[in-house]
Amino acid sequence: MSRQRYFAYKNRQLHVEDVPVELLAKEVGTPFYCYSTAALTHNYHVLKDALPKSALIAFSVKANGNVAVLKTLGREGAGADVVSGGELQKAIAAGIPADRIVFSGVGKTAEEMRLALSVGIHQFNVESEPELEALSGVAAAMGAKAPVTIRVNPDIDAKTHAKITTGTAETKFGVPWTRARAVYGHAGRLPGIEVVGVDVHIGSQITDLQPFRAAFARVAGLIGDLRRDGHQITRADLGGGLGVSYRHDSEPPDAEAYGRMIAQATSGLDVELIFEPGRLIAATAGVLITRVIYVKEGEARKFLILDAGMNDLMRPALYDAHHDIIPVAQPQPNAPTLRYDVVGPVCETTDSFARDRDLPESKGNDLMAILTAGAYGAVMASAYNARPPAPEVMVNGRQWFVVRPRFTLEALIALDKVPGWLEH
Ligand SMILES: *Cc1c(COP(=O)(O)O)cnc(C)c1O
Repeated sequence: MSRQRYFAYKNRQLHVEDVPVELLAKEVGTPFYCYSTAALTHNYHVLKDALPKSALIAFSVKANGNVAVLKTLGREGAGADVVSGGELQKAIAAGIPADRIVFSGVGKTAEEMRLALSVGIHQFNVESEPELEALSGVAAAMGAKAPVTIRVNPDIDAKTHAKITTGTAETKFGVPWTRARAVYGHAGRLPGIEVVGVDVHIGSQITDLQPFRAAFARVAGLIGDLRRDGHQITRADLGGGLGVSYRHDSEPPDAEAYGRMIAQATSGLDVELIFEPGRLIAATAGVLITRVIYVKEGEARKFLILDAGMNDLMRPALYDAHHDIIPVAQPQPNAPTLRYDVVGPVCETTDSFARDRDLPESKGNDLMAILTAGAYGAVMASAYNARPPAPEVMVNGRQWFVVRPRFTLEALIALDKVPGWLEH
């Protein structure tokens, strides 16, 4: 587990690799995200080594879109899974070759399609018939052929949080299982479309291999049917979704177990395999560092009020997500604990990171680390409550660099423009 190795106490102070967090806090100010280069590349290679050699690992940019993160992974050989023209441009800016980029998402616009075709991406993961027709029109007008997989919805419950499940018939994602062959038939007849494979992604933070196994068995069956229907199926994009441990006491399936399941599920299929992991690579490679502003004694509860809020890290408010929280200064082994509600400063009841959490006694100004925050953290940040979102720092051994500076309040205010009629 990369977290233990790359985010560890040394001389009683939390370090990211060889850099003391306390030093970063002094230099950068709090709150800030901090990523470990070694953890990112470690997580990538553990997965890479567990999967068939020729598999393309297209990192899901929506999990962490910082160009420095993308560049770190791209240099190791990763591709990118993008869900917007913006993410596509970020992946290209990070130097990821277009032929390692796949384009997912239910609402691709004609403009985004043109951009993706003009740079020559590896494939479009098409999610509906109207999208297929639009892509056909755009590609034909450009005299191009769009390489297409169709995202099928296998109607499998991934048994994850309802807000991150995508593979049941109830969600907006993919083409319904029962319509798949008909849609492929249609795709095969459209100009500007080259059917290359099948795509599936059943959800996120999946901690049981069984739903994957069930979905991939359906995909394998479909590939057989499609080949019998005369389609050239040379690729299977099996999506992302493998979960990580957000609690020190839980152990989700590891990359090796996932790899063994993949080998079984795809044996004999003779396809290029593509994966779209996000969380698995980035989550444990990042932390959010924050300072206690106040310890507030409520009527019935004790609150630790942090200088990071839901605008910086939305997962607890959005998905009831759990994040372990630890003090940056290592507590004594037998230090007594107190029970806290750990909250942010934003004026919303949902701006809470933890309820009834046992932590060593804390006081104002203490530095705290919110762990496993490298995925779906900084990318979801907003400026709600006119709070400039937390900057991002990347560590590499003894080196560190601010890979996204803190927005100044001046810059934030300057985004708003006042119409002439209010000027005088
Ligand atoms: C979000 C997403 C992913 C990445 O999911 P993780 O759970 O972070 O691995 C992959 N593919 C698609 C289509 C997605 O929407």
